[in-house]
Amino acid sequence: MMNQNRSLISVTEALEQLLAAVRPVQQVEVVRTLEANGRVLASDQYSLLDVPPRDNTQMDGYAVRTADCVSGTARMPVSQRIPAGHVGEPLQAGTVARIFTGAMIPEGADAVVMQEQCEFEPAAADETNGLDHVTIRHQPKSGEWIRRAGEDIRAKSVILPAGARLHPQQLGMAASVGLAELPVVRRLRVGVFYTGDELAMPGEQLKPGAIYNSNRFILHGLLQNFGCEIEDYGIVPDTLEATRGTLRRAAERNDLIITSGGVSVGEEDHIKPAVEAEGHINMWQISVKPGKPLAFGEVRRPETGGTTQAQDNDTAFFLGLPGNPVSSLVTFALFVRPFMLRLQGVADVIPKRYPMRADFVLDKKDRRNEFLRARVNAEGGLDLFSNQSSGVLTSAVWSDGLIDNPAETTIAQGELVQFIPFSELLF
Ligand code: AMP
Ligand code: MG
Repeated sequence: MMNQNRSLISVTEALEQLLAAVRPVQQVEVVRTLEANGRVLASDQYSLLDVPPRDNTQMDGYAVRTADCVSGTARMPVSQRIPAGHVGEPLQAGTVARIFTGAMIPEGADAVVMQEQCEFEPAAADETNGLDHVTIRHQPKSGEWIRRAGEDIRAKSVILPAGARLHPQQLGMAASVGLAELPVVRRLRVGVFYTGDELAMPGEQLKPGAIYNSNRFILHGLLQNFGCEIEDYGIVPDTLEATRGTLRRAAERNDLIITSGGVSVGEEDHIKPAVEAEGHINMWQISVKPGKPLAFGEVRRPETGGTTQAQDNDTAFFLGLPGNPVSSLVTFALFVRPFMLRLQGVADVIPKRYPMRADFVLDKKDRRNEFLRARVNAEGGLDLFSNQSSGVLTSAVWSDGLIDNPAETTIAQGELVQFIPFSELLF
């Protein structure tokens, strides 16, 4: 085999180097649980109580003593009524309690019979203090339809560990143990700009040779998905001075600077010399398609002579993504996402992948590790988008995620491939 691959580093190697360089953000802030969606938890959270706090019913029906129901058909008076949120009296033997979902099981009762298995008989109108009766045509097992105290969460257990990403279900759990506030890692501050003299903003007239800056919308949207404080410097002209100036401004207050374009090593690519002048840079050639050129480095913060910003370090990290829109999206997903998550102390940053059946053929090998845009079809297999070019955004819009196809690998019809849904990559 030709040694063309020698200069390319693998996706795994690049990611390992990136993660090894991470200095996690140390500042913590306390926010209301209601406002903590999308944040990262700063310390282990414990429950002070059992959830549910008491045994309660999972059904509308009648709380019974199973010993009263052994014959299979039992007619008993309804001695009390217990709606959710109310506490009943101990259940007298030979009687049942009308009970509603979520209500505490009264002392003495050991099962709930759902109302569909009972026949209700109202008290006779002429009887004063007469009781309603029910006939139960069911032989309940002890514990039937009872949710046990602590069955979800035990008091004193860790409900959410430090580094957990807080999604609605995590917030619901925190709330279920009564936590009104949560300590979270402060938001990442990310500066972003887009290099290229050909770029124009939607709303502007396109001059000959110009294209719209789609990466701004891709990267800005991705950074919003991760709850970052975004400083967006817009389009920066293809000159060394403009690039250096924007880097200096961005380094002043951000943890990370992200750019798109200009990371090849042509005369019009100014990222390398600019970052070199303002800090240091590694120009990586990664065995990835789309992608390949990725720049990783650090930019010195200007000497401010004061403490205007509570920063942890005297440099900002720098990640330069390639300019083609699909390359920007994919390299963000593969490299920037795990890097940003780890900066916030998230342990598990590797996206889940699922073995899925290829309902297509890929007979052309590539020397790089390809991330193919593919869509899940109704038969539970994957279809491949017809044009996998890194400039064709339609491929990403059409798809549900990426197939991780190793270098030098063809795909046969029906073969299992590794699929990573966008939900694992862009959030
Ligand atoms: P570059 O990495 O600067 O050589 O750009 C590679 C390709 O991506 C060129 O065709 C650029 O015109 C295109 N490109 C660069 N930046 C953007 C952007 N922000 N939005 C859309 N296309 C871009
Ligand atoms: Mg360019």
